Amino acid sequence: MILVSACLLGKNVKYNGEHNYNQDVIDFLRDKEYLPICPESAGGLSIPRLPSEIQGGTGAEVLSGDAVVINQEGTAVTEAFIKGAKTIEILLKKHNVTMAILKENSPSCGVTAVYDGTFSKNKIPGMGVTTAILHAHGIPIYSEKNLPQ
Ligand code: SF4
Repeated sequence: MILVSACLLGKNVKYNGEHNYNQDVIDFLRDKEYLPICPESAGGLSIPRLPSEIQGGTGAEVLSGDAVVINQEGTAVTEAFIKGAKTIEILLKKHNVTMAILKENSPSCGVTAVYDGTFSKNKIPGMGVTTAILHAHGIPIYSEKNLPQ
């Protein structure tokens, strides 16, 4: 089973109520078993919602309690992000997850980089919160920018 960021499949779950439809992802998934996920929705955040960024680190530091997630108004939403990530983690026990394809740069789903918490489009290397959990379980993770060959 492949976990896939739902927004990449065209689901309107993005913070602004829109999606990140990606034809390459759709083509890759043809004839494969996959499960759409949206950690931020799973964590109880609304659609639409304010955009959020990790402050003080990346997903791994959020999980260790050394960084926080804040929305654009400065409200902490760390708990919702961790709840969402743990909800996705539970899926690992229910399904034979062999891979994840996640939305690059997202504070939940980012694979190689996330925004730096200044809301100024600066990115830093690192994973989103859910990506970090999946990585800790050894799941191979790709993004729409780097699909398996
Ligand atoms: S990037 Fe992840 S958390 Fe954000 S809308 Fe897409 S699936 Fe949901």
